[in-house]
Amino acid sequence: MKNKTWGNYERMRPDQIETVFEKHPIAYIPWGALEYHSYHNPIGLDGIKAHGMCEDLAKKVGGLVMPPIYLAANLIKTYPGVNFPKHSIEFSENLIRMICEEYLEQLVEQDFKIIVILTGHAGEPHFQILNEVADNFNKKYANRYCWSLAEFDILPDEMLTANHSALGETSLQMVYAPDLIAMERLPQDREITLVEDGIAGRDPRPSTVEFGNKIVTAFLKEAEIKMADLIGKYQ
Ligand SMILES: [Zn+2]
Repeated sequence: MKNKTWGNYERMRPDQIETVFEKHPIAYIPWGALEYHSYHNPIGLDGIKAHGMCEDLAKKVGGLVMPPIYLAANLIKTYPGVNFPKHSIEFSENLIRMICEEYLEQLVEQDFKIIVILTGHAGEPHFQILNEVADNFNKKYANRYCWSLAEFDILPDEMLTANHSALGETSLQMVYAPDLIAMERLPQDREITLVEDGIAGRDPRPSTVEFGNKIVTAFLKEAEIKMADLIGKYQ
């Protein structure tokens, strides 16, 4: 099927934005973080992943993809019981709430009807804050909708759950920027643990681009169904 009209907002001129907007008044906000992701993955994994998935969804559905927001609260840096103080740039929960609220209001001023917030970082309450802001937005605006989610929200648990630099995130990184990964930096001869390695979830060592693509395909299938419903109601 032919790609829908879409674009990267920050790279477009006004006439180009308007051409997409007239057909698809939809904005996608990929929410990332600058967070330590163990030895083998880049600091920006969450934003790289969310940006890639937003672009893939926009190609199917149409709309404008905003640049990733690399600001997050509740990083591994301050996670209780572990000691990974380096390579994370963390912001307060209040600031995250304010950015999200103000961003949505700015998009209302530009008359976007549907806003998708896809967070690649699911620390808590960071993720809960984005969901709360979206809930409040939806109560305030009856004729617009903000869909806030993390990619695992719409996937079966056997395929993907919240994880930190584990099998799921590493496989998705392999889809969107494989050149930034160094699998050889992972220990080869022992079990991987959160405390020692800063990895939470399934062992990342068997990660593959094939599994990453399987996640993306399943995600897009479910997200397209949801978007068709939202477009029917709000566009
Ligand atoms: Zn992550």
